Amino acid sequence: MAADDISGRFRRHATDWDLYEQAKNYALDYMRTVCDRPVSPAPAALAGLEAFREPLPDGPSDPHDIIATLHRHGSPATVAQTGGRYFGFVNGGVIPAALAAKWLSDAWDQNAALHVMSPVASVLEEVCEAWLVDLLGLPAGTAAGFVGGTSNASLCGLAAGRDHLLRRQGWDAGAAGLFGAPALRVVLGEGAHSTVYKALGILGLGRERIIKVPADDQGRMRADRLPPLDDATLLILQAGHVQTGAFDPFAAICPRAREAGAWVHIDGAFGLWAAASPALRALTAGIEQGDSWSADAHKTLNAPYDGGIVLCRHRDALVQAMSMTGSYIVYSDHRDGMLYTADMSRRARAVELWAALKALGRAGAGQLVDDLCAKARYFAAGLRQAGFRILNDVCFNQVLAACGDPAATQKTLANVQQSGECWCGPSEWQGETVIRISVCSYRTTLADIDRSIAVFVKAREAAK
Ligand SMILES: *Cc1c(COP(=O)(O)O)cnc(C)c1O
Repeated sequence: MAADDISGRFRRHATDWDLYEQAKNYALDYMRTVCDRPVSPAPAALAGLEAFREPLPDGPSDPHDIIATLHRHGSPATVAQTGGRYFGFVNGGVIPAALAAKWLSDAWDQNAALHVMSPVASVLEEVCEAWLVDLLGLPAGTAAGFVGGTSNASLCGLAAGRDHLLRRQGWDAGAAGLFGAPALRVVLGEGAHSTVYKALGILGLGRERIIKVPADDQGRMRADRLPPLDDATLLILQAGHVQTGAFDPFAAICPRAREAGAWVHIDGAFGLWAAASPALRALTAGIEQGDSWSADAHKTLNAPYDGGIVLCRHRDALVQAMSMTGSYIVYSDHRDGMLYTADMSRRARAVELWAALKALGRAGAGQLVDDLCAKARYFAAGLRQAGFRILNDVCFNQVLAACGDPAATQKTLANVQQSGECWCGPSEWQGETVIRISVCSYRTTLADIDRSIAVFVKAREAAK
């Protein structure tokens, strides 16, 4: 089929309002029933995914059929993480205003690279940057880049730190690379997230060429075991340990790092949001002395997925690390989003982040975090009462539970997962097999938790 035929066809589809109504109705159908769906797809639903495996079609397909296929075979095979009983990994729910904003901005299909490409994306990024700095209590002037997730945010923050430290040693890493560069020291805690190692590998700093600081029994970096720091040190701390939820002792460590001239990056994927809560803010005391931070709006804040944020005290350092030039690139006096991220073209992620922050406000953001943590404590107390062991201090939204022995824990978890009633993942904590629970969605009610505890008890019975 000739190109103009397909173009004509798509032009007709573009005003086929029924097509978008169809998609909207499927989405509404999904959202209305998500709480009654199995939390993880049943085997029949997974088998239905085979329908997608076909050779590349020779010709065009009808768009109504495409959307119908997606709903028929795709929707049942989703993980119902917006339903309130998904406790796997650290995955958030999605705030209605933010989801609706994303729908609208999907229709806009903006490219957030440059102001000239999307003034609305540029302004909303500026607004979100200022709001985040305020909400999280970060230094005035801190820059924000809007990326896919914390993996990418840590990559950007650490790139800025690496280049900044080397520049101070008279080395332009952007121009000369790392070959022959002065050595940097990378210091991180035993409890650092695996994505930090990945970033270090990508950045040429080495996954293994690091100084590991021992952690305490909750995975917090031990301040008393911190090695000497200097102005060639990249120190990586963590707000929210991915297993226990624990926070590194920033107030004890950051002043020492600052005095030494080290660069401090704080991985706060889900924990940085504690700073939004007056009740939990003490956990993050001292983070404002960091140099760069990473966070996920798609976790604790319950913004839609693809919502990572890199924050950097030194705007110039981030921009220098991420900058590029090209004859057709039109930087403006306004905010050009691509100056702050590794991508050039990307979605206008700030649209839904703005909507989430606007829907919550300062008080709502704090309440959301408080609520998740209160529910995690409720979950832990209920499990303990039901005879499960809780292996962590539930200081945030993470709970590590276990049965009497590893085999029982594993079997119980397998039964929980198969129940379709709720979902948690496995992990290892200090040599023990554990069930890892993350309370991360505003949708989760106390009734959801009671129901989940009942599932745990039944699953343990059936494991005997
Ligand atoms: C989730 C998480 C990451 C990775 O974030 P992505 O958004 O999945 O890239 C990094 N660090 C911590 C502590 C996390 O919880």
